[in-house]
Amino acid sequence: ATAALPPGALRGEARRWGTAALLVRTFRREADARARPRGSGRSGAVRMESVGQIVLPQTAVQVDGDGGIEARFAVGLPAKGRRIAAGEAIALLTRDVPDIVSASLKASAHPADVVELCAAANEDAEALRSALKPRELVAFVADGAHLPRRSGVEDVPLEGEAVVSFAAPPSFRVTIDLPNAGAVTGMGIPEGVTLVVGGGFHGKSTVLQALQAGVYNHRPTDGRELVVSRADAVKIRAEDGRSVAGVDISPFIDGLPGGGNTRTFTSANASGSTSQAAAIVEAWEVGAGVLLVDEDTSATNFMIRDRRMQELVPPGGEPITPFVDRVRALHREHGVSTVLVVGGSGDYLDVADHVIRMRDYLPEDVTDRAKEVARDHPTGRAVEASGSFKQPPSRRPRLTSIDPSKGRRSMFVKVPDDRTLLFGKDTVDLAAVEQLSLRSQLRSVGLALALLRSAPGGLETVADLLRWVEERIEGDGLDALSPRRLGTLTSFRPFELAAALNRLRSLDVE
Ligand code: ADP
Ligand code: MG
Repeated sequence: ATAALPPGALRGEARRWGTAALLVRTFRREADARARPRGSGRSGAVRMESVGQIVLPQTAVQVDGDGGIEARFAVGLPAKGRRIAAGEAIALLTRDVPDIVSASLKASAHPADVVELCAAANEDAEALRSALKPRELVAFVADGAHLPRRSGVEDVPLEGEAVVSFAAPPSFRVTIDLPNAGAVTGMGIPEGVTLVVGGGFHGKSTVLQALQAGVYNHRPTDGRELVVSRADAVKIRAEDGRSVAGVDISPFIDGLPGGGNTRTFTSANASGSTSQAAAIVEAWEVGAGVLLVDEDTSATNFMIRDRRMQELVPPGGEPITPFVDRVRALHREHGVSTVLVVGGSGDYLDVADHVIRMRDYLPEDVTDRAKEVARDHPTGRAVEASGSFKQPPSRRPRLTSIDPSKGRRSMFVKVPDDRTLLFGKDTVDLAAVEQLSLRSQLRSVGLALALLRSAPGGLETVADLLRWVEERIEGDGLDALSPRRLGTLTSFRPFELAAALNRLRSLDVE
C-alpha cells in the first residue's frame, strides 16, 4: 500500500519483471547518490546487485501480483576498525536506508508513466519473442533500433549523430502486433541458413551481437528493446585451451592423428576447431535451435576448406569436415538454423538460404545476387560431407565429478569477476560464454551446478539433469538455488548452465 504501484505495473509476470528491473536500477542510483563513508572499510555502503540493461527474473527486487515488494540488498554496518560506530549505524539504518527506499521503491518516486512504460515494454518484448516461432523466424530487429554499444566493454548504447538507426530491407520486412506498442515493423530473420556479409567495419558483428543479446529483454532507452531472438539461440565460437569432456564431435571432426577418438572427444586443451565443434554439439545436446556464428570468433579451418587446400591436402589427411558442408543439413535434417557473419569466404554462398549485406550499418537483401554469383563463379570445391548425419546422444555425467567442495568447506562457489567462476577446487573460465551477461548469472549458474549433486538417481543425461534444475527454479524461483535468500541471483538459460558444466575441468562422463 505504501509503494502504491499502479495496476499496470503488476498485471502478469512479464510486466512485474519489467517493473522490478526499474526498481533495481532506481534503488542503485539512489543508493549511490547517498553513499558516504560512515567509518572504515565498507561502513555505510548500501549495495544492491546490478541488472545492467537487462530485464530478467532476479532476486534483488521482486514484485508480487498484489503489489508487494521484496527488496534484498546489503548494508555495511558502520565501524571504526574493530569498534562499532553506533551513531553512524543509527543514521544509516533509520535515515539513509528509508530515504533510498522512499526514493526508489514507491510509485511516487518515478515520473508519471515511467513505471507503466517499463512494465509494458517488457510485456511487448516477451510477446515479440513468442511471435517468432509461429512465423518461422529466428530473430527480429525493429526499424529504428540502435544496435551499437558505447564500447566493447560497455553494454550501454552508443549515442550521437553518427549512430545509424536500423531499417529493414523491404523483402525482409515483417509487421508484428504487440499488446502495447501496437504494430511494429522490422527485419525478420527467417529459419534456415542466413549469411550476414559486407565490408569490414560496416556493422556485421554489431548485428550478430544484438541478436545474441536478443535472447534477453532490455530496458526502454537501450536501443535493443525491440530486438529479440528465439530463446534457443546460442552463440557458437572457437575457444582454444578450454577443456572438453567426452563430446561426440565426429559429425565435424573424425580420425585425429594418432588414432584420437572423436566420438568421445576429451581434452584439457582443445584447439580452435575442436572447441568450436564441441560448442555446437554441446549446445545441440540441450536443445539449441539457432546457432549464431561470427567469423571474427571462429576457427578458419573449422569454417572452410577451399578448392586449393582440398587438392593439396586431400580429405584422407584432414580430419575436419568444414562447417560449410554441415550447415545446411543441420537445418534440413535437424531443424537447427544458423545466422553466420562472413566477410571472407564466398564458399558459403552455395549453402545460404538468405544473404543480408551490411552497408554503412544498414542491411540490404542480396540473396538473388548471391545466387547469381554462386552460379557464375563456381568454387570447384568438392562437398566433403557424404549425406546426412545423426545427432550424437546426450552424455551421462558422473555426478561425483561435479564437486563444489574445497578443503573443509562442503560448498565453495565464488565469482571473483564478471567472467570467472570458482567452483570447488576448479577455476572455470567463462570469458567465451558471451551470453552469460551478468555476474549474478555466473553466481546462479555456479549454485545450480552445486545443486546437481543432489539430483535424484535415474536422471542420467546432461539434458535430463538440466531440465531437473529448470523445474526446481520454475517451482521455487531462484531461491531454489540457496537457502540464504540471496539478493544476488539472476535467471539463466540451460545453455549457459551447460556451458559452465562443460568447462568444469573435473567433469567426467560415462
Ligand atoms: P564489422 O563486423 O562489419 O567489421 P562491426 O560490427 O564491428 O563491423 O562495426 C564496426 C564499428 O561500427 C564498431 O565500432 C561499431 O560500434 C560501429 N557501428 C556498428 N553499427 C553502427 C551503427 N548502426 N551506427 C553507428 N556505428 C555503428
Ligand atoms: Mg566483425
